[in-house]
Amino acid sequence: MASIPEIFQTMSYGPAPEAAGHANEWLEKHGRHFGLFIDGEWTTGAGETFATLNPATAKTLAQLAQATESEVDQAVSAARKAQPGWWALGGHGRARYLYAIAREIQKHSRLFAVLESLDNGKPIRESRDIDVPLVARHFYHHAGWAQLMEQELPGRVPVGVIAQIVPWNFPLLMLAWKIAPALAMGNTVVLKPAEFTSLTALRFAELCQEIGLPPGVVNIITGDGRVGAALVAHPDVNKIAFTGSTEVGRIIRSATAGSGKKLSLELGGKSPFIVFSDADLDSVVEGVVDAIWFNQGQVCCAGSRILVQEGVAERLVEKLKQRMETLRIGDPLDKAVDMGAIIAPVQLEKIQELVRRGEDEGATLWQPSWSCPRDGWFFPPTLFTEVSPAATIAQVEIFGPVVVLMTFRTPAESVELANNSRYGLAASVWTESINLALDIAPQLKAGTVWVNCTNVFDAASGFGGYRESGFGREGGSEGLREYVRWRTDGQADGLTGGRTDSRTVGQKAKSKVKKAGASTDRLPARPPVPPINRTAKLYIGGKQVRPDSGYSQPVLDSADRQIGEVGQGNRKDIRNAVEAAHKASGWARSTAHNRAQVLYYIAENLAARSEELSHRLALSHGDQASANREVELTIERLYTYAAWADKYDGRVHHTPYRNVTLAMPEPLGVLGVICPDVWPLLGFVSTVFPAVAMGNTVVAVPSSTAPLAAIDLYQILDTSDVPGGVVNIVTGSGDELAGVLAAHDDVDGMWYFGSPEVSAEVERLSTGNMKRTWVDLGKARDWSDARRGSGEEFLEQATQVKNIWIPYGE
Ligand code: NAD
Repeated sequence: MASIPEIFQTMSYGPAPEAAGHANEWLEKHGRHFGLFIDGEWTTGAGETFATLNPATAKTLAQLAQATESEVDQAVSAARKAQPGWWALGGHGRARYLYAIAREIQKHSRLFAVLESLDNGKPIRESRDIDVPLVARHFYHHAGWAQLMEQELPGRVPVGVIAQIVPWNFPLLMLAWKIAPALAMGNTVVLKPAEFTSLTALRFAELCQEIGLPPGVVNIITGDGRVGAALVAHPDVNKIAFTGSTEVGRIIRSATAGSGKKLSLELGGKSPFIVFSDADLDSVVEGVVDAIWFNQGQVCCAGSRILVQEGVAERLVEKLKQRMETLRIGDPLDKAVDMGAIIAPVQLEKIQELVRRGEDEGATLWQPSWSCPRDGWFFPPTLFTEVSPAATIAQVEIFGPVVVLMTFRTPAESVELANNSRYGLAASVWTESINLALDIAPQLKAGTVWVNCTNVFDAASGFGGYRESGFGREGGSEGLREYVRWRTDGQADGLTGGRTDSRTVGQKAKSKVKKAGASTDRLPARPPVPPINRTAKLYIGGKQVRPDSGYSQPVLDSADRQIGEVGQGNRKDIRNAVEAAHKASGWARSTAHNRAQVLYYIAENLAARSEELSHRLALSHGDQASANREVELTIERLYTYAAWADKYDGRVHHTPYRNVTLAMPEPLGVLGVICPDVWPLLGFVSTVFPAVAMGNTVVAVPSSTAPLAAIDLYQILDTSDVPGGVVNIVTGSGDELAGVLAAHDDVDGMWYFGSPEVSAEVERLSTGNMKRTWVDLGKARDWSDARRGSGEEFLEQATQVKNIWIPYGE
């Protein structure tokens, strides 16, 4: 023990341990043995058991149950049984329960924090001051959304039973991110915590019992990846919400392809931390501490790549080394430590292996002079300099306290380096120039951009990835969309949407014509005009080009007579079209007002040719009246998206701290669209133009059976100020080209409106770059119905939200 004068001399901290007594009592109360929480009851667990360990001591904390397939099934059935009642409770009823959860978390916050640090190895300062308060905040915030659901999300209903699978790095916080919005929106859940860290989820289950949450609304089942896989495969699950590695995310995307299950994936990252020469370097150093040594770097959005402007690089490295020397590592329950333990030996080995690789590849390693504790699994803060952008450690997620540092000269170079990653979870930008920060932020391919701050989270802000970091958002109003679907049974909410049915376009049009009477049909019905023989090319980069295959395919009318031919597009045409679409990426930066103007102009030019178009459509409809109606609806739809172009606003989230957070919808990038076969013109416009209105560039495959109307659009696009490459049209078999587009790694999103089999194939093939997909699974959508065939659903699918955190106020 140091004497007081010695302490004054060194000014070093002594240990300040947090007591683990209550947590141990709680574990003892359960005999250090836990079953599963299903239908509001504890089961003893029918299968094997496994140990959960304290990473700081390598000692066993408790034995947990590995759920069996039949227990997974019981949990899903319990959730299914509970769901109608939970929804029927209404927003206010659900708000009361969520509020009660938030309150109870606060009342038991210290037990939750200590349990979390024991089980995960994270410093108590973090679990106490960051994780647990954010958990409570998440439930409060979503109590509010439950209350407001009926007014704020009209026409939306719960998805149903949600399977939720979370990782070990923020066990309770990830649980809150999953459960709070799901419950608020009237769903019920089965949640599987990570096998390394289930204790706080089990304490949470107990809390649900204590507040009298109806049985089955929350079910918690423990176990490893096999339990996760069984949950994913369960046929009665409506949605899967997964947070974890990109590798497992890819498996889940493949496993659910074509099943109709909704899916959100929050995956890995390799986030850039960009430092400009005018940045306040002392703040930057503290920023780096928060970016990469928070939770020992086991953070999906860790700022693991420091990109620093050349002029200040040397100074920053010196300052960083000084700061690293003063970091304290040790017992996670010590309130004076900065870094705790690594979750498990397997993770420690992965970090050690990647660090070795870094040295082998020629980077320079620096670690502080002190050594790590030997009990448990620890790894020191590590800085790599002299790193080449292509090096393994610059590209692969290490998920440990290891940061690489690279330099750049110009802002453009910083963006290029930052975006040189297959991930796109987060980024932070450090500069004293607000102009520079707000110039860089929109150029970064990342779901969250922090300006002069890092690793700040809040329930009011959405969080989620671009690229291989996954899709879907958690938090913010955008996060709610993951847990609702549009009501389709029109009657129930007094809307005219109507159930989708499989009658053909012609049949529908006929019945409508009958009701509407002849007065709505401007053109009298006439016998079909004689077939026109024409061979159209493809439309790529604003030019008509011959198909690479050199083949054409016939187009038939409703009486199976040939009325023309179209080129048969192939893989190479798609490749060229994707390239052209990339070159037109400036469209995303054009103003929303400009995009609206272009869409109005297309409508105007299309209207001027409406007679010709409706004659052509009548050949495939076999009916002039419905063809007329299709053209009218097409013009109306173009107006709809022209209207939306400058109205699909972002939000300003009211995150606490000194911030405002701009939630900006951004286009996905290059979108592949396989248009529906029915309503050949309306279907094309309804699927291509919401995407274009939002700033995407599109590679579209028009109706395979009636592509001629889309071909008429070539000239209309040429004369309506649409920049070349914004809309590319490749005719041919939609089902065949769907596979090519889905597998293309430079396509950022993919919509497919056709058969269930190809829908499944699209989802399966999308795993290459984890592109976002939207498929209809062969469900007939009535494109003539404004609610089903247009609207916000399309805009949501065409955009991803970036949250930009900006310091604001005192
Ligand atoms: P992991 O993918 O190995 O495991 C995550 C969860 O999936 C665990 O509960 C695991 O049991 C389960 N699982 C494993 N195999 C499965 C399968 N085949 N089917 C279904 N479930 C399965 O990831 P991890 O090692 O626990 O966590 C680290 C990863 O999580 C990192 O890549 C990190 O970046 C990522 N992460 C992302 C976010 C985010 O919001 N984007 C947040 C935290 C962590």
